[in-house]
Amino acid sequence: MKTKKFLLPESEIPTQWYNIQAEMPNKPMPLLNPLTKQAVTAEDLYPIFCRECANQELDQTHAWIDIPDQVRQLYANYRVTPLVRAYGLEKALDTPAHIYFKNESVSPAGSHKLNSALAQAYYAKEQGITNLTTETGAGQWGGALSYATKMFGIDCAVYMVKVSYEQKPYRRSIMQCFGATVTPSPSMSTRAGKDIITRDPNYQGSLGTAISEAIELATTTPNCRYALGSVLNHVSLHQTVIGLEAEKQMELAGEYPDIVVACFGGGSNFSGMAFPFMRHNFTGKTKTRFIAAEPAACPKLTKGRFEYDFGDEAGYTPLLPMFTLGHKFKPSSIHAGGLRYHGAGVIVSQLLKDGFMEAVDIDQVESFNAGVLFARSEGIIPAPESCHAIAATIREALKCKVEGTSRNILFNLSGHGFVDMASYDSYLSGDMQAYHISDDELEKFHSHSIVAGGLEEMS
Ligand SMILES: *Cc1c(COP(=O)(O)O)cnc(C)c1O
Repeated sequence: MKTKKFLLPESEIPTQWYNIQAEMPNKPMPLLNPLTKQAVTAEDLYPIFCRECANQELDQTHAWIDIPDQVRQLYANYRVTPLVRAYGLEKALDTPAHIYFKNESVSPAGSHKLNSALAQAYYAKEQGITNLTTETGAGQWGGALSYATKMFGIDCAVYMVKVSYEQKPYRRSIMQCFGATVTPSPSMSTRAGKDIITRDPNYQGSLGTAISEAIELATTTPNCRYALGSVLNHVSLHQTVIGLEAEKQMELAGEYPDIVVACFGGGSNFSGMAFPFMRHNFTGKTKTRFIAAEPAACPKLTKGRFEYDFGDEAGYTPLLPMFTLGHKFKPSSIHAGGLRYHGAGVIVSQLLKDGFMEAVDIDQVESFNAGVLFARSEGIIPAPESCHAIAATIREALKCKVEGTSRNILFNLSGHGFVDMASYDSYLSGDMQAYHISDDELEKFHSHSIVAGGLEEMS
């Protein structure tokens, strides 16, 4: 029998996260205070984030950071996650490529998001924080943080993008089941929410707006901090358990990836999978290609600009040097809610600029074609976000077939799609549109959101 799953015992759960900031050839540019234009210090971030997360955010010196024992203990509820050889998919594609995937869908929250949620809840508890606030798009991050805060006895308030609140009622139920309070965003409970509802009463919400609301609540409530599930450096750091495990598991399989693929929202699952492998490219030891798969409806990596921009709609965050579509960007209501964010993490943005990785954009019909083929060949229904990674993997596997060469392709299955079956219904009934955003529309958002305008508003 051929080996299908490459498994490791709990004792092999990594003891340290990998901080790529310490080793990347060009460090990310500093985050800037929008008023003073000075580089932000960790202390500047303390009113918003837990201290340890703020310190990790700006740490460019320590390549390895210890994972607290209590976090490792909770990781053991679902880690080490399986690395699987996708023989079924290879056969369906009739490709000489060897396809592997890391299955992050086995976590209690159904996605990779718990890897950072547990760490952030732990650091909050350690610091004596009693309340965490956050935003959620599709509901994956909200679900993960709700469970993680429950593990540490912290109250959790979640602003959920309105369109998802209405389209994905079960994700809301999951958060409430874990004990969180869930509010649809934009809401009238914050100034940021009120402002946008006044301007556009029918606005269906975006991650950018929900982030503004959550930050506002965190900074106006005692003993409360804000937790973010993607984009930021410390989130990517926590996600490196994925790639560190995968590196050992590929060794068990006796192969090394030529291509590493992950879907891309703000970059956390991509970073988590890619960075531990990328460190070997820095030293010239390997020449692995890294591909981020983003939705054609929200193409910040392939069509965005590298510039300083806010991480949220209202402009409460520091200015981030990143690939962005503009913080006023209103993504269309595609089904992969977790990928509807206007910007990319600053580390990934620098790495893309420096040519250490590539990006592709994929429309939602191609992504669901891929997801359904995967479901039918591997027996797992992927999250709509993860379908983008599968589609990019399939493109590469088919290239191998045309060229008659075999390559090892490793992709991250970031989550399962059991709570996203309404999206699959839409696809299966033939209603789904292959949405591409036009250059004109992109230009419109960009010119509306020039940071100078945002700066005036704030001052
Ligand atoms: C949130 C989410 C994503 C996108 O977020 P990243 O930070 O880019 O990883 C991808 N897949 C799933 C299943 C998600 O929940």
